[in-house]
Amino acid sequence: MNNKITIVGAGMVGSTLAYSLVTQDITEEIAIVDINKKLAKAQVMDLQHAVPFTKKTKVKVGSYNDCRDSSVVAITCGAAQKPGETRLDLIDKNTKIIKEIMPHIFKANPNIIVLIISNPVDVLTYAAISMFPKKKDQIMGSGTTLDSARFRHLLSQKLNVNAKSIHAYIMGEHGDSEFPVWSTATVGNSKIVAHKHLSKKDQDKMFSDTKNAAYTIIAGKQSTYYGIGSAASYVIRAIMHDKRIVLPVSHLIENVYGVKDVCMSTPAIVGRNGITQSLPLELSKEEQVLFKKSAKVLKKAIASVS
Ligand code: NAD
Repeated sequence: MNNKITIVGAGMVGSTLAYSLVTQDITEEIAIVDINKKLAKAQVMDLQHAVPFTKKTKVKVGSYNDCRDSSVVAITCGAAQKPGETRLDLIDKNTKIIKEIMPHIFKANPNIIVLIISNPVDVLTYAAISMFPKKKDQIMGSGTTLDSARFRHLLSQKLNVNAKSIHAYIMGEHGDSEFPVWSTATVGNSKIVAHKHLSKKDQDKMFSDTKNAAYTIIAGKQSTYYGIGSAASYVIRAIMHDKRIVLPVSHLIENVYGVKDVCMSTPAIVGRNGITQSLPLELSKEEQVLFKKSAKVLKKAIASVS
């Protein structure tokens, strides 16, 4: 596997992802591509100055040609949410960008794994897969990896347990129709819903704080980047090092509870070849309804662009 990553987009998310990769020494080389060359150059210089304090990652301004010998390309370019905007508000502008850049990526390297982070991530992942259906396992969105981390963080605080010991997922859209899967959420091997310190009111608050986290952060500092930078580098490490970690990434849903032909997040095994396996789902009756509702919201969004 090539030890290089290309990042498209040198903004807040792209540069934070690069920083996270540099500090964790995940790859030998990072190429950063942006239509704003001045910004890309400045981010690269700044990142290079972090390298003497870490290991030896080479960071450079790149082009789509860098995909040729990259294992992964991370897409972080395009418009970001402004205060008061939903992720779906970005749909037209960012779909157009995805349609422009995907052919350059696969032309340079037909085997590259594509991680889409730009929003609305599920719609953009679907747009990329519609252009290259044979590459469906090579294309994924960061999906609810970040939302699930936010959820586990809140649960870890409430239960006073390390988040790594909490297995709990947010599934569906990375956006307003996402839902928590309480029925299979565990700490150790005990069900979280049965925990005596967690009332139904606490559960509802925890989910609404998770769902609204991005709005709260954007209202305070314009954009979110540390959480997604870490989440995306975690997904990339799973791919580069063939870790086969189960992650709630956005991918093509093919007949799950009657839902198909849409991209959204359910747990999947992520490794060298991208989506190694989408795991079978076990949802309660109520969660199945929420799963179908989320799919409906996304299908409507997808139809609005095509
Ligand atoms: P930003 O405005 O800081 O950066 C976007 C960059 O994309 C800019 O530098 C811009 O020049 C570049 N760009 C625009 N069009 C381009 C093109 N055609 N080719 C190459 N580069 C291009 O925005 P940001 O805060 O970094 O957010 C980036 C995206 O990530 C947004 O869509 C945002 O909503 C999304 N995001 C996703 C998550 C998630 O969990 N999936 C979390 C946070 C942000």
